[in-house]
Amino acid sequence: MARRRQLYEGKAKIIYEGPEPGTVVQYFKDDATAFNNQKKGTITGKGVLNNRISEVLMTRLNQIGVQTHFIKRLNMREQLVRQAEIVPLEVIVRNLAAGSFAKRFNMEEGTPLPRSIIEFCYKNDELGDPLVTEEHITAFGWATPPELDDIVQQTVRINDYLCGLFNGIGIRLVDFKIEFGRVWDNDVMRIILADEISPDSCRLWDLNTNEKMDKDRFRRDMGGVEEGYREVARRLGVLSENTTEFTGPKLVH
Ligand code: ADP
Ligand code: MG
Repeated sequence: MARRRQLYEGKAKIIYEGPEPGTVVQYFKDDATAFNNQKKGTITGKGVLNNRISEVLMTRLNQIGVQTHFIKRLNMREQLVRQAEIVPLEVIVRNLAAGSFAKRFNMEEGTPLPRSIIEFCYKNDELGDPLVTEEHITAFGWATPPELDDIVQQTVRINDYLCGLFNGIGIRLVDFKIEFGRVWDNDVMRIILADEISPDSCRLWDLNTNEKMDKDRFRRDMGGVEEGYREVARRLGVLSENTTEFTGPKLVH
């Protein structure tokens, strides 16, 4: 079978040329990295789970009117999405202190914040994704002031919705990272939600036990990484179908 042209290989996904202009295929790998690429590993089955988890979250967001790049899932590891010109920002939302934020302000992990805080990092691996302000973003032209307003408004809405959704399945949305991209409909440019929303990009804690169900299990060598991801998928109701990959014909007795 002829393979699609690869456009980009990132840390967790590969982007292939899509079947139609303006589309690309996102392939979800099992590769995991942390601490700006210093720690590398694989989480067996992660790509399959993240593909499904991101599908369901993007679909739900779409249903409440948040425009996303998601078009459809193609198979276990691939989804068809609209090609976007990615705004080079990691938009981070924090509801409780955790990770680098907890360190920066010497706060105990899990401390609720007075309100949700949005942070921006400049998406640049060589620089280690530095924290930036709106001043840097507009001065360097990564996004215009109206684009940034749009991004913030959408982000607040996404956070409100996802907090409620996860709460309903016994999960605390501690923090998460999203990316946006520009698309053109005729001559009108719009900013839409792109990339992925998954346990790779969210901190998700069990509401009752505070058990982590996200990439921190990998970052902190806690074990049970796949199980954590699988539990998130299960609670989102996407494990009903078989998610183990088809490896070949089975002998019928
Ligand atoms: P990275 O290591 O750069 O984070 P990933 O492994 O996450 O890369 O692969 C996804 C890449 O594709 C990211 O660089 C992301 O910004 C980009 N991307 C995500 N959604 C889209 C889209 N709809 N169109 C074009 N590029 C996208
Ligand atoms: Mg990424």
